[in-house]
Amino acid sequence: MDNRNLPKVETHLYIDGKWVEGSEEPVAVTNPATGEALEKIQQGGVAETKQAIQAAKRSFSTWSKTSPKKRAELMNKVADLIEEDTERLAKIMTMEQGKPLSQAKSEIQTDVENMRWNASEGQRLVGEIIPSPDTNLWQVRKQPVGVVGAITPWNFPSNMIIRKISPAIAAGCTVVLKPSSETPLSALALMELFHKAEFPAGVVNIVLGESGPIGETLSESEDVQKITFTGSTEIGKKLSEQAAPSLKKVSLELGGHAPYIIFPDADLELAVKTLIKTKFINNGQVCTSPNRIFIHKDVKAEVTKMILKAMEEVTVGNGLDDPTVGPLINQAGLEKVEEQLEDAQKKGGKILFGGKKLEEGNYAKGYFFEPTVVDNVTPEMSIYYNETFGPVIPLISFDEEEAVITAANDTPFGLASYFFTQSIQTIDNVSKKLAYGMVGVNDTSISHSATPFGGVKHSGFGRENGTYGVEEYIDVKFINIRTAK
Ligand code: NAP
Repeated sequence: MDNRNLPKVETHLYIDGKWVEGSEEPVAVTNPATGEALEKIQQGGVAETKQAIQAAKRSFSTWSKTSPKKRAELMNKVADLIEEDTERLAKIMTMEQGKPLSQAKSEIQTDVENMRWNASEGQRLVGEIIPSPDTNLWQVRKQPVGVVGAITPWNFPSNMIIRKISPAIAAGCTVVLKPSSETPLSALALMELFHKAEFPAGVVNIVLGESGPIGETLSESEDVQKITFTGSTEIGKKLSEQAAPSLKKVSLELGGHAPYIIFPDADLELAVKTLIKTKFINNGQVCTSPNRIFIHKDVKAEVTKMILKAMEEVTVGNGLDDPTVGPLINQAGLEKVEEQLEDAQKKGGKILFGGKKLEEGNYAKGYFFEPTVVDNVTPEMSIYYNETFGPVIPLISFDEEEAVITAANDTPFGLASYFFTQSIQTIDNVSKKLAYGMVGVNDTSISHSATPFGGVKHSGFGRENGTYGVEEYIDVKFINIRTAK
C-alpha cells in the first residue's frame, strides 16, 4: 500500500449529538507498527461523563418509545454506511491497532452483520400472555433497562463497540461509550456514521479520557442502569464492585486461557491448520486465542512436526501490507510475551520456533515479536496459567482423556475451549465436562451474530450476540390486570 496517511477522522467527544472539546489535555494515539503519533485526541473526565449520562437519560424517554421498526430502519442505515466505508474504517483500525488490513476488513463486516441482526431482533422482543384465572389478564412485557455505560478494549476496537451498542439500542436503551485509549479512532469513526445516519441526539455518546474517573462515574451513577464491559478480569472486578451499591445490571466479558486439545484419533491436518489460523488472528491478542495446546503423547511428535512446518508460512509486518501478523499493541504487551518465554525457558521449556522480539530494519520502531512455538510446557510456568496475548504456541503432552479434561479446567478462566477428535463418545464426554462458556469441536469458529458469546468463572458473566445478547438490555415486567369483578 503506497498511501500510509491516516484517513480523516474525528478527534472530539460526541455528546448529545454534538462534537465537543474535552476539558483535559489532548493525547496522541500511536501506530504500534511504526511508533508514529497519529492524531491528538480530545480528553474529557467526570464532567463530560455526567453530561453524556444526562443526554442519554433525556433521549431514553423518546428512543425507548420509538417504534422497533423505526429503530431498525436507523440501525440498518448505519449498517449500510459502515459497509460503504469499509476501506477507511479498516485502514484507521490497522494504523492505530496494528492488525492486518484483511482482518480489519472482516471485523468491519462483522459490525455490519451484528447491526443488521440486532435491528431485526429488536422487532422480535415479544412478551407473553400467561394462562390466568378468568378474572385477570397476566401479561409479561420486555422493557429496555435504560441508560447503558459501555467500556470496551483495544483488541477488536470496532466490533467490541458494535456488539454492545447494537443490542442495546435495538432494545430501546441509550448508550454512553468509553472506548480504550489505545484505539479511540475506530470508535470515533463509528460515531461519525451514527451522526451521518441522523440518529437522535443522545442515543449514542462517546467520552474519551482517563479511564478510572470515567469508569467510576458511569458505574456509580444512579442514572445508569447497566454496565457492559469487555476487558481484563482485574478491571472487570473493579467495575463490578463500583456498580454494586447502585445495584445496576452488569455484564462482563473478561480474559480467557483457552485449551486446545488434540486427541489421537483427530483429523490432524485439520487440527493443525485450524490451530495456526486461529492462534495468529490479531497476533494472539484475542480472549479466545488457543493458549494451551494439549497433544496426545501418541501423536505429539507428528503434530509438532506439522506445526513447525506450518510456522514457516507465518509472516510478520506492518498490518497495511497484510502479513499473517502485525505488531503487538504496545511495549507492555511485548514485555509480557518476553517475560513468559524467559520464565518458561528457565523451568525447562524449549523454544522450537521464534522466541525473540524483532528489532531490525522495518521492525525497529514497532512492537514486533517472532511467531513462537515453545515445547515441554508445565504447570510450574507462568505461561501455563496466565493469558499470553501474543503469538506463542505452548505445547503440552497428555495421556488420558479424564486427565486432560482436569488439566484443561485447571484455570480461573472459563471462556473458550476447543478439542479435536472423531469419536462421538469423546465429543459428548469432553464437551459436557469442559468448564467453559463456549466449546469448539473440530472447529474454532465460536463468534456469530446469532450465537451466545461469553464465559464462566473469572471470564465473567452475561452473554453477547444472539437472543441472549439482547436480553442483557431488557427488564421483564409482569402486569396483572383484573378484567372482571
Ligand atoms: P483493560 O485494561 O481491562 O481495558 C479495557 C477497557 O477498560 C479500556 O477501555 C480501558 O480504558 C478501561 N479501563 C482500564 N482501567 C479502568 C478503570 N479503572 N475503570 C474503568 N475502565 C477502565 O483490558 P485491555 O488490555 O484493553 O483488553 C485486553 C483484555 O480484554 C484481555 O484480558 C482480554 O482477554 C479481554 N477481552 C475479553 C473479551 C471477551 O469477550 N471475553 C474480548 C476481548 C478482550 P483505557 O484503555 O483508557 O485505560
